[in-house]
Amino acid sequence: VAELGTPTRSVVTTCAYCGVGCSFKAELNGDQLVRMTPYKNGKANRGHSCVKGRFAYGYMEHPDRILNPMIREDINDPWREVSWDEALGFTAKRMRGIQEKYGRRSLGVITSSRCTNEETYLVQKLARGVFMNNNTDTCARVCHSPTGYGLGQTFGTSAGTQDFDSVEHTDVVIVIGANPTDGHPVFASRLKKRLRQGAKLIVIDPRRIDLVKSPHIKAAHHLPLRPGTNVAVVTALAHVIVTEGLADEAYIRERCDWDEYLAYSDFVSDERHSPEAVEELTGVPAEELRRAARTFAGEKNGAIYYGLGVTEHSQGSTTVMGIANLAMLTGNVGREGVGVNPLRGQNNVQGSCDMGSFPHELPGYRHVKNADVREIFEKAWGVTIDPEPGLRIPNMLDAAVEGTFKGLYCQGEDILQSDPDTKHVAAGLAAMECVVVHDLFLNETANYAHVFLPGSSFLEKDGTFTNAERRINMVRKVMAPKAGYADWEVTQLLAQAMGADWNYTHPREIMAEIAATTPSFAGVTYEKINELGSVQWPCNDAAPEGTPMMHIDGFVRGKGRLMITEYVATDEKTGPRFPLLLTTGRILSQYNVGAQTRRTENSTWHGEDRLEIHPHDAEVRGVKEGDFVKLASRSGETALRATLTDRVSPGVVYTTFHHPDTQANVITTDFSDWATNCPEYKVTAVQVSPSNGP
Ligand code: SF4
Repeated sequence: VAELGTPTRSVVTTCAYCGVGCSFKAELNGDQLVRMTPYKNGKANRGHSCVKGRFAYGYMEHPDRILNPMIREDINDPWREVSWDEALGFTAKRMRGIQEKYGRRSLGVITSSRCTNEETYLVQKLARGVFMNNNTDTCARVCHSPTGYGLGQTFGTSAGTQDFDSVEHTDVVIVIGANPTDGHPVFASRLKKRLRQGAKLIVIDPRRIDLVKSPHIKAAHHLPLRPGTNVAVVTALAHVIVTEGLADEAYIRERCDWDEYLAYSDFVSDERHSPEAVEELTGVPAEELRRAARTFAGEKNGAIYYGLGVTEHSQGSTTVMGIANLAMLTGNVGREGVGVNPLRGQNNVQGSCDMGSFPHELPGYRHVKNADVREIFEKAWGVTIDPEPGLRIPNMLDAAVEGTFKGLYCQGEDILQSDPDTKHVAAGLAAMECVVVHDLFLNETANYAHVFLPGSSFLEKDGTFTNAERRINMVRKVMAPKAGYADWEVTQLLAQAMGADWNYTHPREIMAEIAATTPSFAGVTYEKINELGSVQWPCNDAAPEGTPMMHIDGFVRGKGRLMITEYVATDEKTGPRFPLLLTTGRILSQYNVGAQTRRTENSTWHGEDRLEIHPHDAEVRGVKEGDFVKLASRSGETALRATLTDRVSPGVVYTTFHHPDTQANVITTDFSDWATNCPEYKVTAVQVSPSNGP
């Protein structure tokens, strides 16, 4: 700060890292950004922040940023810097050529949960209104798509039920498949405050995360389940609640479909779902599981918070429904201190899903097969919308390998690094005739791109992000776009180059179109967000100032629906060649694949991914602390250093995925969630052996 001078002005904006959505004052000296200061009036963070939002913004000035558009005829040619006009003209010509040759469904888009709502809306509109198909998908495919499915089925809408303030009223919390102190630090602080006041904590996680035992906090129960057995554990908790008469039948009679409850109750009461029956499968002592169920059902207000350790499984959607079942069984939806709360990974996962990024849903989670909904957008956009759902990311890649999918516009997402089965992703990209990467950096996917369009950071544009509590926060331009255009402008220029009549002059006009076409956003305007600080959807005539808590008098779908959650073992099996189970996660100072945080001083806190291995498993393999090890699976192998720790149980190993050198996704399988194709990142059978290094 001393070098940069004293700030002379500030702009309030929103952190672009995680789904907590902290508000910051970007403080400037002239045009020079001096520091990011947590904003005390921010409703999600109330003046708090973590090391990512506060310090890790320097990537936007990193020399690796690409500031000029680039094109090449073939992916083996060198890149050629060109003007925006030439890059967009080249792209439009190629995309149109592909459509003429292979048909309108041969093109698609991928939206980004790092971009604003308005940008995401325009990218899916590009697919539906210019490419003329529903081939739009989002990076949420690989993280929270099971949340969309599971909560949609049980509650009727694909979003968390509470605001963050709600945790201050909770008496018992289940944290399952999430590590909030690293992944969602500001929310974790609020949770820990409540725990210090006496709320009880149940952690369901293969790893002894910090919340299990940290200064002044000790979880009442830690259920260290074997990776891949979430459904068995959650159903066993429900078994205890139902068979021991702990279910809130008055609530269920009033709020839920009673016939479905009776069927569910029969299912869950079966002895095969008892803690004793699943003890060997899950690795969780039956008595501890019984005690945890009694603790959860025994308190007045029970809340459940979960993360990617729930969703990134072959039964991710089933576990989300099982969690919703637990909340309904115990009468824990519809008031302060309770609820089902997905902790969203990226800053705008909620928003990218809300904005119609999925190939079967228009904005507001409305199916493309619904002619009435299509008509709303057809009138607004002046086009005819394809009634057939489009392709998900893995299906786009399959179709590319088969030769029917040829062109992709990928905004703010590095699918080669973040999606499973890297070899298959590469094969799909290599088979396409026009891959457009729109990003800040020349990422791994760009190795297969024909066009690179420079992106804009969150400091270089106006717009909105929607956080994990459905809170629409304002993103305000702090400085001019370094490459000349904000991302929404680039998408518009591409649409115009392809002949579309788009004429937005500011993102507020895009939000006005979203409000006009999407009932849950009907009352959202920039003026209202500026006046109130933020607004939680649904925001409409029924709730003009937004909705902090959902399902108060009834579920969005009417009666809550308890779903049968049969455990089905993953196809990923351990065996003599691959006897250990690998699971993955994040660390405080880094963010996802590290494209941003690795280009900041945060990297000094976590310079490499390490493999956590139990001392017993290490000893039998001759591995010592800090040794390089080979980590091999049926899909591939990599090398990284080992950390010996009893945070993981024998038989389980763990690593982060922040550094491209580690290539954790070379190891992971191509198994995925049965309902949504969300990859099964959290369960991979592996072997660990000594290695000389990468
Ligand atoms: Fe940003 Fe999340 Fe940290 Fe808040 S908790 S500062 S939103 S990374």
